[in-house]
Amino acid sequence: MDYRLLVVDLSSGKSETRIVDPKHTHQYIGGSGLGVRLLWDTLSPERDPLDPASPLLWTTGPLTGTSGPTTGRFSICGRSPQTGLWGESNVGGFVGPELRFAGFDGVLITGRAAKPVYLWIHNGQADIRDAAHLWGATDTHETQRAIKGEVSEPQARVACIGVAGERGVPFACILADHGRAAGRTGMGALMGSKNLKALAVRGTGKIALADGDTYKRLRVEANKSLMEENLTNVFRATGTAGAADYLQMLGDMPQKYWTQAAFDGASKISGAAMAETILTGTSACQGCVISCGRAITVKDGPYATQGEVKGPEYETIAAFGSQILVDDLAIISALGNHCDALGMDTISAGNTIALAYLLFDRGIISTADTGGISLRWGDAAWPSSMRPRRAERAITRATTSWSRWATRSASSTCP
Ligand code: SF4
Repeated sequence: MDYRLLVVDLSSGKSETRIVDPKHTHQYIGGSGLGVRLLWDTLSPERDPLDPASPLLWTTGPLTGTSGPTTGRFSICGRSPQTGLWGESNVGGFVGPELRFAGFDGVLITGRAAKPVYLWIHNGQADIRDAAHLWGATDTHETQRAIKGEVSEPQARVACIGVAGERGVPFACILADHGRAAGRTGMGALMGSKNLKALAVRGTGKIALADGDTYKRLRVEANKSLMEENLTNVFRATGTAGAADYLQMLGDMPQKYWTQAAFDGASKISGAAMAETILTGTSACQGCVISCGRAITVKDGPYATQGEVKGPEYETIAAFGSQILVDDLAIISALGNHCDALGMDTISAGNTIALAYLLFDRGIISTADTGGISLRWGDAAWPSSMRPRRAERAITRATTSWSRWATRSASSTCP
């Protein structure tokens, strides 16, 4: 099957569909592996990652969108503005599958638009649309809602940058589906350097399978086998934060900016603690039975949410929790969701803040450097004036229970 790459030059405003050489897709299969091969001839150590000529590449794999376990994922690749080295970030949700339903397997973006724009990709077509009104004016959730309204397609899937990406923060991320982040290596800054606010995607096509019946049978068997695994059930019950208890037991959870081996408060911020306190639901990427995403509601206190919002992943809990000795899930969740709204990677943001705590503790920096804020281990109280206007609903629900899903999968084609 052809690998259809949408190639967009934002400087000229021109786009075309390119068929990737089959020898590359056979040898590198898909995702970031194929991304490395496709960018091998164009990346240069001499060229700044944020130079307009630097490419930004979105790649799916052959199973993306086929509703198999963890196949909702796709990769975003380029030269990292954070490290200057190869950058890739793998992200779940629904954007990757939707891209394939729209008739494309990947998107290669080069150049820089004269003004902020977003790409509207729908059923084999790609339009470049004005995004000046969104630039600097909205958070990532508002951006996604606004674009869905503008394209008059509530079922469109949107991945966008926030203010961090617009301003070139080296660890800016790309937010997809309100809760899934291409967090690592600064791909959001690379996207922002192109004046590209978002990709919105909608497709109603089907993914061709060489042997659909066999694939469906294998998919059901794979999911059944997955559901019998203990680890799957740990992730379903406690999310990726379920790793906290285990890693704490091994002494492998980072604490006090990597200077301490144990933290008494770790059990209060684990996935199990979340399940017993603020967890109100779970969410999943397209077709995935693991459903590791968390939905939480904080009812009381200064970090109370307005309804249900995204719950933190393990990495966010480590970065904003154990790394600064904070044992309050409500604060950690609020910080994580604020980073999402700004389009900022929670891992790099949290660990950078933890480093600041260490430097403050050792007298290397002071309140003169922090805008008057004392950085004391265990204290992450957030001045009310700095809190976001409201907590955002940021949940894409798991669509179905396992039993219903298995039944449907056995009798349907891939969406
Ligand atoms: S729901 Fe969790 S396990 Fe499944 S694809 Fe998404 S991130 Fe991976």
